[in-house]
Amino acid sequence: MLRVTLRFYGDLNNLLFGGFTGPTVERLLTAPTSVKDLIEGCGVPHTEVDLILADNHPVDFSYLIQEDQKISVYPFFSHIDIPRSERLQKRTLPHNRFLADANLGKLARYLRMAGFDTAYIQGQSDKEIISQMLGEKRVLLSRDRKLLMHKVIEYGYLPRSDDPAEQLREVCHRFNLFDDVHPFSRCPNCNGVLQSVPKEEVIDQLEPLTKKHFDDFSQCPDCGQIYWAGSHRRRLVPRVKEILGIGD
Ligand SMILES: [Zn+2]
Repeated sequence: MLRVTLRFYGDLNNLLFGGFTGPTVERLLTAPTSVKDLIEGCGVPHTEVDLILADNHPVDFSYLIQEDQKISVYPFFSHIDIPRSERLQKRTLPHNRFLADANLGKLARYLRMAGFDTAYIQGQSDKEIISQMLGEKRVLLSRDRKLLMHKVIEYGYLPRSDDPAEQLREVCHRFNLFDDVHPFSRCPNCNGVLQSVPKEEVIDQLEPLTKKHFDDFSQCPDCGQIYWAGSHRRRLVPRVKEILGIGD
């Protein structure tokens, strides 16, 4: 039997399973256990952990717990002075592509409004979600802690807020996306890449007032939705910039 004490820092305490009250958790282990399994057994997915200290020494997720150790578990901090080699999460992504799990439909719309390729999935099994994530090389965004605990997930994030605008800010902070924001480049409804179209090509589908007042149109090639600079761009672009605190 191994006795171990964990201390969780920052908002990781909000992710602990019921029955655990942070910040300090004591566990008794009956079998050799990796620090990943130990931490996730308390409710915190590995995707949310950026630094683990075992008796003050940095370790990775595969580290096997020793008798009487003290384990400190830290979340991702964007501004903290820890050597890169000790941090467990990557700060930037190879591809800014996302897969939003059920309950994050509004976040998916906001990410698309900011120009990020975002698939949305609901009603699928964990296996199907993970298969799509791997196949399309997407970052998994989910509020399902158990789903994020799957070992194959290299890039994932659990949005903390219930507010989709705040979730967008969180994702942009976590993956350092602010320089890659391109509002009004994707269809918020279906993720298609908007293409500009000559007015004469869509004129038959326009309401009389739109026809009269606007000349600059884009269309989603996937769902056919038409967008025009006036109303959509005037509303959407400032909204995205306001949420992200980006100036003109
Ligand atoms: Zn569309």
